[in-house]
Amino acid sequence: MAERVSVCEVGPRDGLQIAKGQMPTGIKVRWIEALAAAGVPEIEVGSFVPARLIPQMADTGEIVRAAIRIPNLTVIALVPNLRGAQTAYEAGAHAISVPVSVSEGHSRANLNRTPNEQIAEVARIVGWVREQPRRMKVLAGCSTAFGCSIDGVVPMAKTVHVAAALAEAGADEVILADTVGYAHPAQIKATVRAVRAAIGSKLTGLHLHDTFGLGLANAYAGLEEGIRKFDAALAGLGGCPYAPGASGNIVTEDLVYMLENMGFETGIDLARLLAARAVLHEGLPDEPLYGQVARAGIPRTYRAAA
Ligand code: ZN
Repeated sequence: MAERVSVCEVGPRDGLQIAKGQMPTGIKVRWIEALAAAGVPEIEVGSFVPARLIPQMADTGEIVRAAIRIPNLTVIALVPNLRGAQTAYEAGAHAISVPVSVSEGHSRANLNRTPNEQIAEVARIVGWVREQPRRMKVLAGCSTAFGCSIDGVVPMAKTVHVAAALAEAGADEVILADTVGYAHPAQIKATVRAVRAAIGSKLTGLHLHDTFGLGLANAYAGLEEGIRKFDAALAGLGGCPYAPGASGNIVTEDLVYMLENMGFETGIDLARLLAARAVLHEGLPDEPLYGQVARAGIPRTYRAAA
């Protein structure tokens, strides 16, 4: 039996938040349907943030309500605070992801809070979610866990401290995010080891950006350390409006190509995944689409793991 790796598509959230154009709601839903039809098991479909800050996310409620009707799809929404968590719950999201910056500078720019204030917000969210009749998973994402374009170096001890505080606050899962793409493979290995030593299996995933072309090398380093969950964006969309210099996420198609060839089962059909790019292009005709597999085509040597 092939070992399973879970790929979470974050294009509709991380990708669209920085896009110059506004993708129409109907096309967004068709894009999410195309991703799910390709076998993508989890999709971060949007974020519940004020529309005046990120207008591309104004329709997230509608998107969540449409996405939860798609069979076998885990629908995740990003929320910055308790109010966002309540809105996500009402819309029916299966899980929420709450960003917590490790660096002070990004925390202030992105959330107008200190890291400790945001950790306290996660504790409040967990407390509220646990009182609700329906279960909704709380994922905590450690933003700028490997470096910050505002503060520069982020000491590993700080990342371990924030991850441990989030586990303590009751987050179901902790994800380490290389928000600006500064990480290198040796740093990924050392950090994953240190965080796992602190919080064990609560560390589940990596969220990687490809600013310096090290995205897949970093994913491989994570794989070697036992990480079995990765965020990625179709066509390498993505970036953070509050992290100057951040570029796109690792490309979902290229990640799936690497994983399946290595014998890890993702449940994703690579050809159908590539086909979803057409819907993305239809919704954002001016956005550049990246990806090596899309450029080269699927070679005859490609073998899916399953
Ligand atoms: Zn990101």
